[in-house]
Amino acid sequence: MAKVTVDAGLCVGCGLCEQSCPEVFKLEGDGIAHVIAQSCSIHNLEEIAAQCPVEAIKIK
Ligand code: SF4
Repeated sequence: MAKVTVDAGLCVGCGLCEQSCPEVFKLEGDGIAHVIAQSCSIHNLEEIAAQCPVEAIKIK
């Protein structure tokens, strides 16, 4: 099972991941994206990780 993480030190809070998959990513009050679920049956998380402008999303 893949483990999804967002590096809080890299994330700039652009919101792209949350727009792409709100099932997994959520921008919290601290202005960065948090992982709220480890999988999504609708969206391709690898693709979303590749779209992050600062490569903060890791999938291992
Ligand atoms: S796409 Fe990347 S930089 Fe933008 S909110 Fe998500 S994790 Fe942060």
